[in-house]
Amino acid sequence: MDFAPSEKIQTIVAMIKEFVKAELVPLEPEFLVKDFSEMLPVIREKQEMVKKMELWAPNFPVECGGMGLSLLEHGLVSEALGYSPLGHFVFWCQAPDAGNVEILHEHGSAAQKERYLNPLVKGDIRSCFAMTEVDMPGSNPVMLETTAVKDGNDYIINGHKWYTTAADGADFAITMAVTNPEASTYKQASMIIVPTDTPGFNRVRNIPVMGHEGDDYFSHGEILFESCRVPQTNLLGHEGQGFVMAQDRLGPGRIHHCMRWLGICQRAFDLLCQRANERVISPTGTTLGQRQTVQNWIAESASELQAARLMTLNSAWQIDKIGAAKARDSVSMIKFVVANTMNKIVDRALQVHGGLGMTDDTILAFFYRHERAARIYDGADEVHKSSLAKRILKSYRNN
Ligand SMILES: Cc1cc2nc3c(=O)[nH]c(=O)nc-3n(C[C@H](O)[C@H](O)[C@H](O)COP(=O)(O)OP(=O)(O)OC[C@H]3O[C@@H](n4cnc5c(N)ncnc54)[C@H](O)[C@@H]3O)c2cc1C
Repeated sequence: MDFAPSEKIQTIVAMIKEFVKAELVPLEPEFLVKDFSEMLPVIREKQEMVKKMELWAPNFPVECGGMGLSLLEHGLVSEALGYSPLGHFVFWCQAPDAGNVEILHEHGSAAQKERYLNPLVKGDIRSCFAMTEVDMPGSNPVMLETTAVKDGNDYIINGHKWYTTAADGADFAITMAVTNPEASTYKQASMIIVPTDTPGFNRVRNIPVMGHEGDDYFSHGEILFESCRVPQTNLLGHEGQGFVMAQDRLGPGRIHHCMRWLGICQRAFDLLCQRANERVISPTGTTLGQRQTVQNWIAESASELQAARLMTLNSAWQIDKIGAAKARDSVSMIKFVVANTMNKIVDRALQVHGGLGMTDDTILAFFYRHERAARIYDGADEVHKSSLAKRILKSYRNN
């Protein structure tokens, strides 16, 4: 086990940390009050700077224009980017595009790569991933109602999805639909590329999440597919391969989230400590940091963050070395451990800020609203714990 970052990665991470603090953190007050689409011109300027620094698309394959970092290297980069909510988008390694790039790279035909993958990696277009349905439990994704029925050379798609993150402004949606209802459970669904301007791809609304509808990239769409016709050449991989591909996508996707959350933990922790030192709470000059409760929060947050970081880097290292399938237990563990660590540290930082923590004068309330979902998406805590426990119990039965 060797997590020692190479000199190259240390330099890259240092450059990114400096960039995030100098160029992105100062944009946050504006970001918190404006629509994201209003921020796009300045974001584009920052993205051009990133391209000039040759730090564009750090985790995308070199052959499509990314830096081709390993998962472990990307873990260190991603923590640095997660320090600001704008980091991943500006450096172009944000969900759900990152997962979609992986699918297209792995399973896309030459024509699909030309039309969708290349412009996606360049940052010319965005994408979204439409799997979860309004009326079906996302925790059991084999229960899908959306269908794609063959008609001539086309598929006709009908279904009702939601939480299609970043659908607003996306060029295409990778859509999970049942193509083979007669097949065995795990072979019924397929992934199909649906351009969002196809008639019948109806974005009903951006769902209000924690009081905020958002817009453009920072939004979650509700999508009604109504006799939405796309050519069969838009099928990704083979029919019935949808769940296998979803697993391929979700493994690395989960660790990507964990890596970003570490950055959020670090940011919240920095704010917690700064406030604890600065906030005077008695006429004799006692600060919040002199109170044992706050000291406990600081010590616990520091150690929990370090544990979460080491677990995440260890999972990344395992995936790099032995592949996502064999690192499955480790990924399940970090998914709920890091999500809960982040929720705890953000909550403590907010509490230390008192009334200020509830305002949008710091980034904490944004993190509090947006990151609660970490314990739900890409597998709720309970689902990961249950499947991990079942695998552990099984290993004891085999002994
Ligand atoms: C902010 C956000 C962004 C998202 N982005 C996307 C996206 O881009 N594309 C997409 O397709 N989906 C996306 N999702 C959807 C997400 O993946 C689902 O919400 C998630 O899979 C849970 O499914 P569900 O909401 O249907 O909850 P349900 O499946 O109804 O589960 C509800 C709750 O029941 C409990 N539960 C469920 N199963 C079990 C079990 N086996 N054991 C114990 N407890 C259980 C859990 O506590 C769970 O939270 C997003 C969700 C959020 C909140």
